[in-house]
Amino acid sequence: MLNNIDLHLLPLIKNTPSVLGYRGRFAPSPTGVLHFGSLIAAVGSYLEAKSHGGEWLVRIEDLDKPREVAASSYKILRSLETLGMEWDHEVIYQDQRKDIYEDVLTMLNRRGLIYPCTCTRKEISSSSIAGISGQIYAGTCRNNVQNDDRLGAVRIKTNSNVIEFEDTLYGLINQNLQNEIGDFVLRRSDKIYAYQLAVVVDDSEQGITHVVRGADLLDSTPRQIYLQKLLGYTTPTYMHLPVAVNSHGEKLSKQTKAAHLDVSNPVKQLIGAVNFLGQEPPTELVGESVMSFWKWAFINWNPRKIHKKRTIKFQPNKV
Ligand code: GLU
Ligand code: ZN
Repeated sequence: MLNNIDLHLLPLIKNTPSVLGYRGRFAPSPTGVLHFGSLIAAVGSYLEAKSHGGEWLVRIEDLDKPREVAASSYKILRSLETLGMEWDHEVIYQDQRKDIYEDVLTMLNRRGLIYPCTCTRKEISSSSIAGISGQIYAGTCRNNVQNDDRLGAVRIKTNSNVIEFEDTLYGLINQNLQNEIGDFVLRRSDKIYAYQLAVVVDDSEQGITHVVRGADLLDSTPRQIYLQKLLGYTTPTYMHLPVAVNSHGEKLSKQTKAAHLDVSNPVKQLIGAVNFLGQEPPTELVGESVMSFWKWAFINWNPRKIHKKRTIKFQPNKV
């Protein structure tokens, strides 16, 4: 593994000023082992962090227990190690942080910003229209007098102000939450805290300055910025990366039966990942060590080469 001296010299080698206080992260959900799709987010966020002389944290997003696959967080972490990716600070697990999310909900409730929603799935589908991210909730329960948040799901009130942000890769993105998303869920009726809430609380608490992740989450970012504003948090810089899709245009994931990442040849996988991200690793790297790969990658990483398409077909043979 590269030692610290190498990493600290990096800004000098690249002749760029070290951006003090860059802190990135990789936040996998333990719904299966690492596959090529999640490797892209891991490698992209790692290279961005390290090429800025920054820190890279790993957070396990394990709130959705019904979807969790036993031992997968352990396996993901071991794969990252085999791939030579070192995280700074201890790994945090969202499942251990539920009290914090509850406190945030309590605070939002005191401010009258959330409400319980007891609509059934059927009621929601008959009263809503399809949006970019599921059904646009019609706000049926917004004005219920009964304000007992132990009932049903908990939703946050949205408004029609347009949320705008500059994505490092895709440029200006804007969204009108009320029209395009609707009041969204912060705690599901099965009492599981929603990703949108937990990710915002944790990115803030962990002092994340730069979020690098798949473009499938571009549409979630305005919701997260909205929550950050309500909670008085700083909004990090966002850079989304193209998502690897199969020949049917589906995101590589456990659901689409994406092949497990074979880390018996880690360099081959890493080369596949940087290739996907538009970089041009020399063919000789294939036979080299993981350490030599990262040395090459730290020096040659150029995010301007990443294709600006939201999805890219992944051809396993191109590796
Ligand atoms: N846990 C999310 C996922 O695996 C990623 C969350 C994020 O990077 O914000 O898709
Ligand atoms: Zn409702």
